[in-house]
Amino acid sequence: MSTFGDERGVPADLVVETGDGLQCTACAHRCTLSPGQRGICDVRENVDGELRLLTYGTVHDPTPGPPGTADPIEKKPLYHFHPTTRVLSFGGASCNFACQCCQNHHIAFAAPEDVPLRNVSPEEITTSADRQDCAGVAWTYNEPTIYAEYVRDGARRAKEAGRYTAIVTNGYFTEEFVTEVAPHLDAANVDIKGFREQPHVKYMGGRLEPTRHGAELLQETDTHLEITYLTIPDLNDDPEEIREFAEWVSGDLDPSVPVHFTRFHPDHKMRDRPATPVETLERAAEIARDVGLEFVYVGNVPGHADNDTRCPDCGRTWIRRDGFRASVEVDLEGTCDCGREIDIVV
Ligand code: SF4
Ligand code: SF4
Ligand SMILES: [Zn+2]
Repeated sequence: MSTFGDERGVPADLVVETGDGLQCTACAHRCTLSPGQRGICDVRENVDGELRLLTYGTVHDPTPGPPGTADPIEKKPLYHFHPTTRVLSFGGASCNFACQCCQNHHIAFAAPEDVPLRNVSPEEITTSADRQDCAGVAWTYNEPTIYAEYVRDGARRAKEAGRYTAIVTNGYFTEEFVTEVAPHLDAANVDIKGFREQPHVKYMGGRLEPTRHGAELLQETDTHLEITYLTIPDLNDDPEEIREFAEWVSGDLDPSVPVHFTRFHPDHKMRDRPATPVETLERAAEIARDVGLEFVYVGNVPGHADNDTRCPDCGRTWIRRDGFRASVEVDLEGTCDCGREIDIVV
C-alpha cells in the first residue's frame, strides 16, 4: 500500500513561481498555492516552497495480483482505436471536478489519505500489462490530468515497450499539460457533461470553456480523440444545447471525430432524476447526424444498433458491437466497398 504521508510525493514539473506562491499548471484551475496549501484536486501541495505531486506512483487497486484492471477498449469508450483489444486501466485518488453524477465517487471524492493506494512504478505498469495480456494502458477511473507527471512517465515507458496509451478525461487541460503529456498519448476520450456554462459549474465543479478548449488543443496533436456527451435528463438534453454541442464538434474539432451520447444512471448526489430514456439518446444522435457528424454512437445501451460503426458514405457495417464485444467486418487497414478510407487506428 501507499507510502503517502512519508514521502509527501515527488516534485511536480508542471509549476511556475508567481509573486503569491507556486502556480500549478497541470489543469485549468491553475491553483496558486502558498506553503502548506493543496490544490482543488487535493493531490498537489506546496511543501516548504516546492510543489509536490503527492500521489505520484500510486493507484487505487485493492485487489491482489498484478495491478490494474484489464478492460475491453470499447468500455472506455474508444470505438475507433485498436478495436477488440484489452487495455490495462488505472485510477487513483481525488479529482479536479466534483460531478454530482460521479460513478467513481468512492475514489474521486476521496483525499489521498482516505483511500487505499498501492505503489506502482511507471515501469510496473508496463510489466503488469504484459502479464495481463493487454495491448495498451489507460488512466481512466478518476481524472488523469491531476497526476500528469505520473501519466507522462508511465505512458512513455509503455510506448517504449510497444504498448498503446490512452486517457479518459474531463479535458480540463492547459497548454502546458498538452505539451508535456500529449506526445506520450495515443488516444483520449474527453467527457463533455453539458454545453451550458452555469449548470456545468454548478453540477460538475468546473467551467465548460476550458474543457472545450482542452479538446480543441488535443485535436491539434497526433492523439486520437473521441468525445463522450453524458446525456442527463432535464440538465443537458435540450435539443438546442445538443445541436450547439454537435456544431462545435463539427466546426472546431472535425466531423469525423466519434461522438458517444451515453446514458446517465442515477448515482452519488444526482439521484433526483431517472436514467436517460433511450429515445432521448436517439434524438441526440439524430441531431448530431443532422449537423453532419459522421460517427455517432448511443452509449450504455447494450445491443443498440447505434453501437455499430458504419460507413458514413455507403452504410456498410465496419465493426459490429454487442455490449463491449466487438467484431470487425472489414479490413481496417483498407478501404470500404465504396472507396472511402477506413480511418480506424489499429
Ligand atoms: S492539478 Fe489542477 S486542481 Fe490540482 S493543483 Fe494543479 S491546477 Fe489545482
Ligand atoms: S470528472 Fe469524472 S471522476 Fe471527476 S468527479 Fe467528474 S465524473 Fe467523477
Ligand atoms: Zn462505404
